[in-house]
Order: sequence, then C-alpha cells, then structure tokens
Amino acid sequence: MRTSPLDAWLAAKTGVAPDPPALAAWQMAELRRTLRWALKASSFHARRLAGFDGESLRSPADLARLPRMESADLTAPGLLALSQDEVKRVVTLPSSGTSGPVKRLYFSESDLARTLDFFAVGMSTLCGPGDMALVLLPGRRAWGVADLLARALPEIGARAVAVPEGWTPEALPDILAAQKADVLVAAPTQLSRLLALRAEIFRGVRAVLSSAEPLPASLRRDVQDAWGCDVYDHWGMTETGFGGGVECSARNGYHLREADLLVEVVHPATGEPLPPGEIGEILVTTLGERAMPLVRYRTGDAGSRLPGPCPCGSALPRLGRVPGRIAPDGSITQPRKGGGTT
Ligand SMILES: [Zn+2]
Repeated sequence: MRTSPLDAWLAAKTGVAPDPPALAAWQMAELRRTLRWALKASSFHARRLAGFDGESLRSPADLARLPRMESADLTAPGLLALSQDEVKRVVTLPSSGTSGPVKRLYFSESDLARTLDFFAVGMSTLCGPGDMALVLLPGRRAWGVADLLARALPEIGARAVAVPEGWTPEALPDILAAQKADVLVAAPTQLSRLLALRAEIFRGVRAVLSSAEPLPASLRRDVQDAWGCDVYDHWGMTETGFGGGVECSARNGYHLREADLLVEVVHPATGEPLPPGEIGEILVTTLGERAMPLVRYRTGDAGSRLPGPCPCGSALPRLGRVPGRIAPDGSITQPRKGGGTT
C-alpha cells in the first residue's frame, strides 16, 4: 500500500517531519502568523479580536480560547484583507435562508496557487503521468473546480478535461470513448445516475474521485463493483479554497491539507475540542490565506478525527467520514449537497 502523497508534500511545505507533534507546533506558529495578518489587514478581525493575545496561542489546547466564526460572518463588513484589485476570484454562495444576504468568498492569486498545489498532490493519489481525468462536476468558470483541475494536473504529468456544460448521461459513452478517460471526478448524485448506464463504457476508468457531497458507503461499493475501479473520496468546500482532504489507498479517512488548513473537531455548543473518534463540528482555520483569512470557521459539517497511524503508513491523524450537517445539540441532519463545485 502506498503512503499518502500528502505526507511528502507536507514535509516539503512545512520543513518539519509529518508526525503529529511536529506538525501541530508548525500549525500553531502558522496560526499566530495568520492572526497577525488578519488583525493588521481585516477590520472585521481587528474588531472581533481586539484585546486578544494571539501570541499566547502555543498548543492545540489553547485553540478553544479563540472565538469561532459563524457562517453569517462571511457577510460582515471589513472581512476582506486585500483591496479589490488584488482579488483574483470571487465565489458567491447562496444564503442559507431565503432573505439573508449572499455570501462572497474572495481569493488572491497566491490563495489560488496554493489550491492548485494541493489539487496536484491530492490527485496524485489516484492519477499519474499520462493519465486523463474527465471532470463531471459542475463549475466551468475560470478558476472554478474544473478549471483548477485542468490547470493543476499538468504538474503531475496528467491532464483534466471538463465535460461540456449541459451534458447528459446519454452523451457520456461518446465523450468517454473520445477522451479515453482513466479517471473520473464526479459528485455522488452524478455517480448514482451513471450506474444506470452500461458498465462496459467505464471499462477504461481505473479510478473515481468523488467530491462535493458525502459519499454513501453503498454507492462507493456499487460503483466499484459495477465498473471494476477504485473510488476515492474528497472532502472540501468553497471556504477551504475547494480542496480539504483526500483519501489514500487505504481509503480509511481523509488525509488533510494541513499545510493550508488547521482542522478541528469540536463540540458544536461549546467549541471545546473532542477526542479522536467522537463526532463533532468541523472547524477550519485557513493558514496563509491572504484575501479572506478564516479563523475557527464553523463549517457545519459533522466529522471526527481518526487517530494515526493510517494503514498506508502515515503517522498523521485523519478526518473520518463526514456523515452530514451537525446541529448545536450535536444531532446530525441532512448531508451537505453541492458545496465546493462552483
Ligand atoms: Zn493513509
């Protein structure tokens, strides 16, 4: 079994060994640096963290002292830390209610470059030199998910092509035959529709990356059995710059994008960290984000940390399967759909 390629990537990006204590110390130093930037450049963070001593955050146990950001904070004035002309990409998300303001997420060129870097290493789990990945996910805009994959994969000697907007499952056999796809990138709702097609058309597909929605275990099994391929799952959302974590060949939890994200699992009511194995709310702090630093952002996704080591050989803890959304009392509600695809 091949160790997740994220371990070598993390070691190269952070300069520390990919083991839990070394990585935690590196992340805390990056968090302090992120807070210095946020306090200096974002009036939202300066207001919210006035009087808070960010330099006192030394170990993961200190994180609970740092206030969480709510999803509604994405519409707060002054969150953007750069001028508009330094913003390369804006993603508009629908509000959770019918009358609430829309949320906008901003990314600078360097923020997008970090996403490209993660996409390349994450995809190298299942994709290698000479491979062609066919992207079925929606999002055809410049710097959208399909475009990011097309830009990232040449870094690992592969390429990605998006199916044309408005494609139908009936057109897929011709598209697959023409593109000779080795890898498919698709959302679970798309995969379940494709299971109705003749399995022979997927004969050349060696691996599938499932993204944008939770992947039911039964669907993974059905796709693997029908097409004779391996299905890998990805976790992420627009707020994490799309990429977040990807399974390794053990397919037992997501190896996380820890060079760019500090991911916590906490009790949704109190924000206190939970031990490995316990399901809570996933919080995300973006490390090194220039345009819109997020600090302990409440994703609303439920999840748990899996203790290391992973069967692939990595010593790092992973993120367990995301079973859906989490309410303040800890109850799990409907799965998130369609995130991270624009
Ligand atoms: Zn692994």
